[in-house]
Amino acid sequence: MKIDIKDLKEQVTNLDFSAKPEEIGFNGEAVFDGLIKVSVEVHDMSESFRVIGRVSARVTLDCGRCLKKFKLKMEPKFDIVHVKESSEEEGEIPPGETDELAMEGDIIDIGEDVRQTILLELPINPVCGKKCKGLCQTCGADLNKKKCGCDEPALNKPFAGIKNILKKKK
Ligand SMILES: [Zn+2]
Ligand SMILES: [Zn+2]
Repeated sequence: MKIDIKDLKEQVTNLDFSAKPEEIGFNGEAVFDGLIKVSVEVHDMSESFRVIGRVSARVTLDCGRCLKKFKLKMEPKFDIVHVKESSEEEGEIPPGETDELAMEGDIIDIGEDVRQTILLELPINPVCGKKCKGLCQTCGADLNKKKCGCDEPALNKPFAGIKNILKKKK
């Protein structure tokens, strides 16, 4: 996913990319379903280039509650400024808001931008849906499919009380 700045004729250029996960450095961090697609808007600021990207990727995850696999469509965004190596005008770039990266020659490589953006977006505790009931802690039945008839584990009960207290505070 490389942009040659010599190809940028306009102040703002729209480009589309797609790549296999391994082509941008993924190495088993996630199970992807198809290609990773990216639409970018490149703003030419002469000494630096602001790249605003929209990523589109599908991953297969394991639900942490019911253990089933499910697909998740991710559409994270990034906004990163790539600065020319030769640039000495560091003060020109507005601070804050965006991340900055140094370029190698005339090439803006957005592969790493995309990879980091996806890694940040991947859920730490994936759940197939907000309503997933998970597995019965006693018999292991999938509670999304049926009620197994076991008593609710006593362990969960003290938390119900805490939840009510929290609700009242809000
Ligand atoms: Zn689930
Ligand atoms: Zn049960």
